[in-house]
Amino acid sequence: MSIKNIEAIYPVGRLDKGLLVVGGNKRMYEFVGEYIYSPLYKLVLEKDVDRLKNAVSLCDLQPEDVEECVHFINGRGGYDTYLVILRRAGNFDGYEIELQNVSENIGQIEKISSRLGMLRDYLTVSGSALFSYRPADGWFKLFWMDYEQEVEICDMPFEQWREQIVGNKQVSEKDREVFDSFCEAVKSGNQEQVYIFRGNILNGGKSEETYRVKIQSRMYGCQKRVLGVWSVIRKRAGNTTDVYTEGNHLDSMTKMLNRKGIMEYAEAKVAKGADAAVIMLDIDNFKNVNDTFGHPFGDAVITAVADVIKKVVGNSGVAGRVGGDEFMVILNNCGDELTLRNHLRGIKMNVAALFPDKVGNNRITCSIGVSRNNVDSDNFKELYRIADKALYLAKEKGKNRYIIYKPELHGVLRISEANEDLTDIKEAFYSERDLNTFNRSLADLVLQGSGELPEVLEQMAHVLTVSRVQVFWGEERQSVAAWPLTLMENPCDAFCYEKEEYRELFQNDMLQIGNVNKLEYIMPEIYGMYRENKVCSILQHYLRDGKGEIRGFVTVEECSQIRDFPKLAMQIFESMCKVLNAVLLREEANANKSS
Ligand code: GH3
Ligand code: MG
Repeated sequence: MSIKNIEAIYPVGRLDKGLLVVGGNKRMYEFVGEYIYSPLYKLVLEKDVDRLKNAVSLCDLQPEDVEECVHFINGRGGYDTYLVILRRAGNFDGYEIELQNVSENIGQIEKISSRLGMLRDYLTVSGSALFSYRPADGWFKLFWMDYEQEVEICDMPFEQWREQIVGNKQVSEKDREVFDSFCEAVKSGNQEQVYIFRGNILNGGKSEETYRVKIQSRMYGCQKRVLGVWSVIRKRAGNTTDVYTEGNHLDSMTKMLNRKGIMEYAEAKVAKGADAAVIMLDIDNFKNVNDTFGHPFGDAVITAVADVIKKVVGNSGVAGRVGGDEFMVILNNCGDELTLRNHLRGIKMNVAALFPDKVGNNRITCSIGVSRNNVDSDNFKELYRIADKALYLAKEKGKNRYIIYKPELHGVLRISEANEDLTDIKEAFYSERDLNTFNRSLADLVLQGSGELPEVLEQMAHVLTVSRVQVFWGEERQSVAAWPLTLMENPCDAFCYEKEEYRELFQNDMLQIGNVNKLEYIMPEIYGMYRENKVCSILQHYLRDGKGEIRGFVTVEECSQIRDFPKLAMQIFESMCKVLNAVLLREEANANKSS
């Protein structure tokens, strides 16, 4: 880069020590616009300011260029991702800077290999996947970024992948030809090309998407690699969001995988027989942190713990947030227990070192439970259960520790010994800890009153693994609590649920419908509402007043699959409704007394 190159296509300029622009090309001045008298920090997305500051300090320490990825404000009320190249100026006390807008420039592919790290933010945000193909042995790897980690979609010989995609009909029949020429082009790696075809390759066989895949070959020494960027072309109409960027796989707070994302990843990884460990981590006494320092600080702790995990795990694994203060990590190559322990210790020590000024002697600690693939089991659900059990033990034994499950120490987990329902329930990812936590929050509900309702509903949804829970209560059947907070878009009037013909479906005030389609002809109105809101299965319970009249309603909805609730799930639901009913009645009586 040369400052003198005034025709540069990027903003190039000179900054003083405070990052005020003191010279530059035309683009630089266009870039800063009205902010010409403010330091560059002013244009940076708040969360990136520290990153830019670090880059500047690094620049002071070394003569080499420093590269960083930062979001800068654009003229359209949003932010663009820039690759910032910063260097100490030779002839005055300040810096030289070059800014490349990567948001608009997917054509930057040739820089991907050397600047992958810098482009990660961009790739995550854009939702693009990347792939690399090694002609020498035909190996193919397709993965996407969750900010700091590579999450592989596949890692296998190219031909095997291709057969699988075609065999599973993951590419649209109409676009088979395009897909075939794409495959041939990857293998030959001779030309730079863009292919557009439809399929469901990135979203694991769900709805059809349109892909734009750009390939190019590169030489690394004398090894040839074919690289590519694989993006989902967003649909113009409708509100289909990209699975890889918004919500579906990513936890927006920690920028790591969410429950669904990490579970799917873990299951696939374990199924491949990888030498991996399943690590469950839960922050200790997190409720106290929230209560003492407030919820926003609690959030900051969760994010900081996530960052520790990401840093310690680095490229040796993939991490996700499975719920409130709970994380899961899939750590690769754990055959060697020493390596595994080093990672675990690293996480534990670094978490304990967080926010010393704020928490003083009440350090933030975490408990960890671990199971190992091919050692404890080769089935993911079982490994999950075992790791969760180990975590439970870690808590029981006094917290702030990690336990790698060892049957000889911790007892053999006899899953089949439990009665059928329990097995069922465990199949659906319930765990002893979930049930325990749930019981605890039910107890809180009795002791503290309905203020605890949101907590209880969240636990309820978690234990039953359902999409929504909602409680209606009172003269008007108002919604008094709900999880999650965004509910049905078009609910029907709560009194609908009390119509004669609907009531007849209930037994002992409770109703379970595995498949709501059965309502189509008998209750078209309610059916229509379920249909519109994509509800598949429901579990419901009436709430009654002191005289035995219906006064409210609890509804649990499952939107991702048609399912029957096992007996234990219904029992849990029923007891929760009874406790809830009692608490609501008590509060209503108290309110009447005082008025
Ligand atoms: P334990 O040591 O047994 O884990 O006790 P704990 O207090 O950490 O209990 P638990 O893990 O069951 O509690 C998790 C709490 O985390 C419950 C909920 O209030 C809180 N929580 C869940 N999600 C969030 C969040 O996104 N932000 C904040 N600040 N708190 C959350
Ligand atoms: Mg906790």
